[in-house]
Amino acid sequence: MRVSIPFFIGILVSTILYLSVGWWGFLVIFPWIGFSISLGIYIMSVVPRKKKSIGRKVTIVMILPVLLFFVPIANNENFQLEGVFLNVMIGYFTKSFIHYAVAKIFGPVIWGRGFCGWACWTAAVLDWLPIKNEGRIPPHLKRIRYIAFALSIALPVALVFFWGFDVRRDYLHKTEMMWMFAGNLIYYLVAVSLAFIFKNKRAFCKIACPVAVVMKVPSSVSLITISPSGKKCLGCSLCNKSCPMDVDVMSYISRGKRVRDTECVLCMDCKLACPAGAIK
Ligand code: SF4
Ligand code: SF4
Ligand code: SF4
Repeated sequence: MRVSIPFFIGILVSTILYLSVGWWGFLVIFPWIGFSISLGIYIMSVVPRKKKSIGRKVTIVMILPVLLFFVPIANNENFQLEGVFLNVMIGYFTKSFIHYAVAKIFGPVIWGRGFCGWACWTAAVLDWLPIKNEGRIPPHLKRIRYIAFALSIALPVALVFFWGFDVRRDYLHKTEMMWMFAGNLIYYLVAVSLAFIFKNKRAFCKIACPVAVVMKVPSSVSLITISPSGKKCLGCSLCNKSCPMDVDVMSYISRGKRVRDTECVLCMDCKLACPAGAIK
């Protein structure tokens, strides 16, 4: 029964948004996302321990076509940070803004960076790369994300205020969507290259993704976090080694603290790796 909770939450959210905004697509998107998460959790509950992470990877791949293709094409919108900002600047609070509000601004207050762990279309490809995650990312490189974020904001501002870019015309002439696909192609090329260069699947998330910066603030007060189960931590550090986001999980769990780290994407890999069952 607990497995089906995400599906029912999806139906609830879709109903609320459909009644508020009136777009039929919500009745497809959120139940599908909820169903994908429920299925991933179900798979995790039935497969052997070593294969449980496959459940989340199935979920993230199932959600990819909905967010990368269905919603942008159905609305002719750019769901990337730069596109959303362009629209907001001229007062278009469109579907892409709703997506940002739900998944990346207000939602993280409840589920932290769960979007990064379970629904990001970039990570859906990264998580399946044939890389063993042997490399760690030097902390100073993680500051590059803030430069990427500044550029993502500066570019739309410059386009509108210095080059007189007509967003409304661009929107009406249905070229928004093409920007989305061009932008994502660049993201994928950079993300896959970084993964192989650093031998780390999530290198892009830690070095270059501007969206991570957006989510860090609301996820710092997230209601849902990785937590100690009450069982004794053995100090084996297997949780740290398994974490794709370089979180020092052991330092939290061994002190009986919740993992309040804005890098955590709630992938559950640390929980699956813990031999003592000390993480829940
Ligand atoms: S950090 Fe960026 S690329 Fe990585 S999962 Fe989050 S949104 Fe996706
Ligand atoms: S702390 Fe655990 S749940 Fe969070 S990202 Fe690391 S492995 Fe995943
Ligand atoms: S894997 Fe479990 S037992 Fe080992 S350090 Fe982490 S929390 Fe402690």
